[in-house]
Amino acid sequence: MFVVSGASGTGKSTLCRAMLKVFPNLRFSISHTTRPQRPGDREGIDYFFVSSQEFQAMIDRQEFVEWAEIYGHRYGTSKAMWETARAKGQDLILDIDVQGARQLRAQNIAAAFVFILPPSLAELKRRLMNRKTEGKEALGERIMKARAEIADSRWYDYLIINDDLQAAKDRLKAIILAEHCRRERQAEAVDKLLVEK
Ligand code: ADP
Ligand code: 5GP
Repeated sequence: MFVVSGASGTGKSTLCRAMLKVFPNLRFSISHTTRPQRPGDREGIDYFFVSSQEFQAMIDRQEFVEWAEIYGHRYGTSKAMWETARAKGQDLILDIDVQGARQLRAQNIAAAFVFILPPSLAELKRRLMNRKTEGKEALGERIMKARAEIADSRWYDYLIINDDLQAAKDRLKAIILAEHCRRERQAEAVDKLLVEK
């Protein structure tokens, strides 16, 4: 599991999506959200768009591994998403905020926690403005929240500065490859070598 967080507009979804092309066994964790669909958002690919009532019903049925309220809307990762990936032996990449990531860390879920940083707040603002997905007010709110989120990056396992996009993709790719080489994930290979005649 790869948990990717960072302030809005830093490039999380760009980086996560890029990894899906590099690693065939990696799946994107599709969150449920009550936020309205933006132009370009694809239902069932980027998010599952649900009403507040539907989201609340999922909370009541304890169907989320984590959920959080962000900019007045709710976002959550379903247990079903998680369990399907585990059953299929697939890697999962989650684009979630720091509140959600903290909930997963508190549950001791085996995951690598990656935080994406912008090269500067001025550049972050530029990217958000270019993306044209938020109004002026929402944009100001996202920039303000960015500082608090960046301060939270301290407890993550890895930090990536998304300055040059290709370099940032290479960094994330290196993290995914390195996580696969961890000793505990290679135990089977060692056992096999030791019993070989
Ligand atoms: P997030 O998912 O973190 O909110 P996005 O992936 O939507 O951010 O990226 C925000 C905007 O910045 C998008 O328009 C994206 O194309 C652009 N972007 C992402 N990474 C870079 C980069 N390294 N350099 C310049 N623009 C970038
Ligand atoms: P956006 O509205 O720009 O798509 O996303 C806003 C924020 O919600 C981003 O920081 C994103 O990482 C976060 N987010 C998306 N899905 C989830 C989720 O399932 N859980 C949590 N906690 N955050 C999420």
